[in-house]
Parts: sequence; structure tokens; C-alpha cells
Amino acid sequence: TASRNDRDREVNIQVMLRCRPLTDEEQRLNVQKVVSCNEQKNEVTVLQSLVNKQLDKTFTFDKVFGPKIQQRSVYDHAIAPIVNDVLEGFNCTVFAYGQTGTGKTYTMEGGMKHKGGDLSADAGVIPRAVRHIFDTLEAQKADYNMKVTFLELYNEEITDLLAPEDHTRFTEDRQRRPISLMEDGKGGAVIRGLEEVVVYSANEIYKLLEHGSARRRTADTLLNKQSSRSHSVFSITIHVKEAARGNEELIKCGRLNLVDLAGSENISRSGSREARGREAGEVNKSLLTLGRVITALVEHSGHIPYRDSKLTRLLRESLGGKAKTCFIATVSPSIHCLDETLSTLDYAYRAK
Ligand code: ADP
Ligand code: MG
Repeated sequence: TASRNDRDREVNIQVMLRCRPLTDEEQRLNVQKVVSCNEQKNEVTVLQSLVNKQLDKTFTFDKVFGPKIQQRSVYDHAIAPIVNDVLEGFNCTVFAYGQTGTGKTYTMEGGMKHKGGDLSADAGVIPRAVRHIFDTLEAQKADYNMKVTFLELYNEEITDLLAPEDHTRFTEDRQRRPISLMEDGKGGAVIRGLEEVVVYSANEIYKLLEHGSARRRTADTLLNKQSSRSHSVFSITIHVKEAARGNEELIKCGRLNLVDLAGSENISRSGSREARGREAGEVNKSLLTLGRVITALVEHSGHIPYRDSKLTRLLRESLGGKAKTCFIATVSPSIHCLDETLSTLDYAYRAK
């Protein structure tokens, strides 16, 4: 209805769906595809009838990207407008949400080898956003400064992926050092001890990213973490000085958060059946709370439960209000993922 649409515009949440192609292995095994995408209508259909007697289910999203859609096209259609908003001084967040193995990291990071500053064809959202931001600011000959942070959230504990290496300590000890999240008294959050790196070029950020991702993998192995249970948050904060009017100096400040969420199976039925102990429960907390925050924002309920998890506390200023949020829900086309695909689509559809 019209009123539903007006409300949607007000909360500024966009929901997109991306379905990956079958992997080489799946093709070799002749795995049946049960997801069909219609990019013209932005519809995705789950062919349940192929599996059981149920009717096929169709969902509509703000944007649907089928298996053939390239990284560049996803960026140009889904993300570029958001990055332009960041450059205008808005806070924006892009989440990749979906079952493990469906393309969240591929979508967010993709190929990370960028020779001589040129992006590779499989580069994902993060390197493309970085390129776009620098190209725009340089074309405008803008007076700006830029800071980046990159952190991992696992078991409601924050690890700084950009912290300087400390060779006098064991890496393990270093990476276990918890970082604390505190309220700034103005409704935002301050992360005590988090490295904010001032950057001057895209190449510098690419290096930090590569380094941070490699570190994430090392820490995961060292501490026996399951990477499917961790969230990573890469943030860029940009201050742009506008042409002075009279004595007033105007500064536009925008922040872009790019979030690769824990696998959604961690909150869906099959996930909780296997879940054991504190670990699973804690990861569920940030993912579950994010879902509740989004629902509360979409339904305009008075109480938004930001405080219930670390992820929502640290993204608070970038969720709701004037902030813009984009979910990219990722799914596999495989018949073996049917149940998870349906729960991802249900979750994503509820955020609309
Ligand atoms: P996740 O982060 O959700 O666990 P990944 O991003 O690691 O999933 O993707 C799983 C595999 O599928 C990887 O080998 C990745 O390269 C591949 N993949 C995912 N999405 C696509 C896509 N749209 N096109 C081609 N390959 C993809
Ligand atoms: Mg991943």
C-alpha cells in the first residue's frame, strides 16, 4: 500500500538480493538449481515445487542480482548511490547477510589484488567504494581528511584488525586483547583503543584491507574461531571542507560502514539445532538484535533495542534516523540450501 511505501522511504532501508552461480564442484555434481531471478521485475522465485508439493514462492526486493551479474554491476547499481550520499555527509551502512558459502565475503571484498591501483574484475564493494571516494574527492579538488577502522566482532568481543603489530608479545595474546565499547553520552559509541588510521590514498587502504583480512584469517585459525560466526566491520569516515561562506567554515562529515555479517545459519532453525554453548548464543546476539532493531525501525515502534548487542551499539549512529541502510542478502541456487535460502529471503523481506 502507499502508506507502507512512504514508511519505507522514511526509514531508508534498501534490501537487495544476490544469488551466486553454482560452484565448479556443484556443476560437476549436477546439483539442481531451485532459485530463479528476474532482474527486470526484481523478483526471485524459489522453486519449491521441484522438491515437495508446495507452491513456488516469489519475493520482490528493491533490486535482484542473478548469478550472472558481475561485481561492477552490483556496485554501480546498488552501492554507488549510497557512497554519493556518504560524500554528501550521510552515515550509511551496507550489510551482507546470508548463509555461509553464499557470497557475502565475495560481495564485500571479492578479489583483493589491485595492481598499480587498478581494480580487478572480481573486486567487491569495499575496494570499489574506496576507489569511488578517492576519485570523486580528487576530481572535486576537495579539502578532506579520511580515517578508516576495521574490526572483527566474535562472541561479542571486538578485535582490532588494524592494531599495530607488537612483536614483543605472542600474536595470540595480542589478538585476544579485548577492546571496550563505551557510550559517548550523545547516543553514539566510542571504541576505546581502536586504531583509526588516517589515509591519503586508495592504495594505502587496499594495503590495510589486505593486511586486516589476512590477520582475521590468522586469528581465526590460532584461536580456533569459526569465521562463519564472526562479523567484520570496515568503516571509512570522511570530513570534507566546503568552500567557506563568509567567516563560516562548513564541514561535511559522512561515514560508510561495510559489514560482512556472521552466517545467517547461526540464527535460523538448522543453526540453532546444532548450536552448542556460549559461543553460538553470543554470535546469535548481534545477529538477532540487528534483526530486531531493523524490525523496530521499519515498524516505527518506540523502543529500538540498540543496546542489546555490540554490533548494534557500535552502528547505532548509522542505523535509523537520517542514516541509510542497505542489506544485500546472498543465497545459493542449490537444492541443498533450499531451507536456508527460504529463511534468508523471509528475513530480508521483513526488513523491507
Ligand atoms: P560467504 O562469505 O557468504 O561464506 P564466500 O564469499 O566465501 O561466501 O563465497 C563462497 C564461494 O562462492 C567462494 O568461492 C566465492 O568465490 C564464490 N562466489 C560467491 N559469490 C559469487 C558470485 N556472485 N560469482 C562467482 N563466485 C561467487
Ligand atoms: Mg565469508
